[in-house]
Parts: sequence; structure tokens; C-alpha cells
Amino acid sequence: MTQITLIPGDGIGPEITEAVKTIFAAAEVPVTWEVENAGITTHNAGGLLIPVSLIASLNKNRVALKGPITTPVGGGFKSINVTLRQMFDLYQNVRPAKSTVGIETPFKFVDIVLFRENTEGLYSGLEFYDERHGIADAIARVTKDGCDKICRAAFEYARKHKRKKVTVVHKANILKLAGSLFINSAKTIAPEYPEITLDDKIIDNMCMQLVNKPEQFDVVVTTNLFGDILSDLCAGLVGGLGVVAGANIGKDMAIFEAVHGSAPDIAGKGIANPTALLRSALMMLHHINEHEHANRIEAALEETFKHQEQCTGDLGGKASTQEFAQNVISHLQ
Ligand code: NAD
Repeated sequence: MTQITLIPGDGIGPEITEAVKTIFAAAEVPVTWEVENAGITTHNAGGLLIPVSLIASLNKNRVALKGPITTPVGGGFKSINVTLRQMFDLYQNVRPAKSTVGIETPFKFVDIVLFRENTEGLYSGLEFYDERHGIADAIARVTKDGCDKICRAAFEYARKHKRKKVTVVHKANILKLAGSLFINSAKTIAPEYPEITLDDKIIDNMCMQLVNKPEQFDVVVTTNLFGDILSDLCAGLVGGLGVVAGANIGKDMAIFEAVHGSAPDIAGKGIANPTALLRSALMMLHHINEHEHANRIEAALEETFKHQEQCTGDLGGKASTQEFAQNVISHLQ
């Protein structure tokens, strides 16, 4: 049995983590959950936004599955998600987006794995407000080390998974120093991977190309803010935020979580699609070398998508979150 830290999160988080737990229990996946929460839930209960017990659990288990956590817009506290990624140097945010049989979209052959730098750039937290002059600064600091690490991670993934191309997305035409540091890092590393083609796109062109001809992209690597936005765009190409997974990976720790947020518009209604978190949990199973369990659940999930009425409302079905989980279980071989 592998012990995993489970962070239910808030909004739809508790509903979808419950669905994943139900499916894992039915599939007899050899993991145990150590439940620790964070954010507004622990704060409202009189505790810290990131409790000491959560940090201890992460340090001990080194692997976590995390539901979404709300971050107040404007004032309020710093994002728990960004804080955890920076605290444990989870510098890779890996977000695959792949077309799935049964999930109808205008695109049939999307298969993109996006590598988003996860700790630097505009999310560095370097913000300053000069009240007297009404000037707000947000510093998009990138480091050579940070650029090298995420670009190398993308190339290593491409090699391991026999992918053909890595596209570097940047804005080096305007961001002369920070943008150039990123693309130069990719250009320096690329010759070590002669079997992989290096391609580069300016972010604005990338957005247009993605909605026009997404099949041309394979592995994509980019900075923090661009990656955050592009991964939602990629989600839209393959069925929406309800179906796309993600992983925050560092040197010796990984936190798996969906691309989507806490979805306050549907929270508590029992209608959220648990697929995105389930797929994140399957990435987690591959990470801990439980490949057979991951493949078995993935096959059941894919079978479920072939029956639209068994899916949740975002995919045109009628199932609740828990009914969807039961439908996946019914297809377990
Ligand atoms: P969101 O991703 O929560 O929701 C965007 C839209 O997608 C909504 O219409 C929502 O109903 C839908 N959606 C999302 N997940 C779904 C699912 N599983 N099934 C069906 N529909 C789904 O984005 P938002 O509304 O901009 O953000 C809400 C909150 O989440 C904010 O506080 C934001 O900071 C936070 N957030 C957290 C994370 C995280 O914890 N990693 C990531 C993104 C946003």
C-alpha cells in the first residue's frame, strides 16, 4: 500500500475527490489516503491556510492528490496553489489534452502535452503598489535555472514517450530579456535531443494556431502565465475543463490536480465531472508505478464516454458526479 496525501479542497473539490476515492476502492487500488485540507476550509475552522499537518504529510508521503482551492480575486490571501508549488519547488506543471472517442468536439486528433513552468514568471509574487502615484508593478522574474529545468523536462518527456516535436511558446519579440532567456534555454538544450524537432511560436500566433489546427502540436513548453492560459484553451479543444488532468512535479515530490478550479457556479450541486481529477489520479498511479491499475481504470473511463447518457451534464449526459463514478465502476474489467 502506498500512502497518498489527499487534499479535498473546496467548491466542487470534496465532491470529485469522493468520486475518485469510490472508484479507487472499487478497483482495489493499493493506496491509502491521508486526508489533509488547506485554504478557506481550514482557515474558517480556525486553523492556518496551509496547516502544519499538511506540510508534514506532504514531506512524509511525497505524493498528493489535490482538489481545487478557491483564491479570492483582488485582496484576500495569496494563492494556496502557487504557495504549495513554490514551497516544494514543483517546477513542472504537466497538462495533457487529448481527444477522446465519445467526447464530441470540432477536433478529433488533438494530442498535446503542455509543460508549464510552475514557480516563476508573473506568478513569482513580486508585486508592488506605489499608492502615492497609483502605480502597480508585477515582476515576471524568470531565472536561467528555472528555464533550463522546465525546457529539459519537456525534452526528457518527449524522448521517453517517443514524441516528435517540442514547441516553445514565448513573447521574446517584446520581452527582450525574459522571453529570450526562455527560448535560448530551449535552443541550447535541443541539440542534445536530435530525434526531436524544436519549433517555436509567439504566444499570440500560438493561440490562433491552436484553435485552427491543433493537431500540429505535440509537446509544448512555456512560461507560467502563458501555460496557465493555454492549458484552459487546450481543455476547450478536447471537451472542457471537466476532462483534463494535471500534475505538479518537482525533484522528489508530486502533487496531482485537475486543470480546473473550484467551479463555484456548480459547487454543491453534485453535477461536477470527476474525470479531470480521476485522470490526474491516474497520472499519479503511473508516477508510483501502479501502471496496471491506471490502465484498467482508464479503459473503464473510456468505455463510459462511449455512452453519452452515462456522462455528466458538461458532456451532454444526465449523470450526477456519483452516478458517473458508478458508471465507470460498472465498466471495470
Ligand atoms: P473554474 O475552472 O473553477 O471553472 C470554469 C468553468 O468550468 C465553470 O463554468 C465551471 O463550472 C466549469 N468547470 C470546472 N470544472 C468542472 C468540472 N469538473 N465539471 C464540470 N464543469 C467544470 O474557473 P474559475 O471559475 O475561473 O475559478 C474558480 C476558483 O478556482 C477561483 O477562486 C480560482 O482562483 C480557483 N482555481 C483554482 C485552481 C486550483 O486549485 N488548482 C485552478 C484554477 C482556478
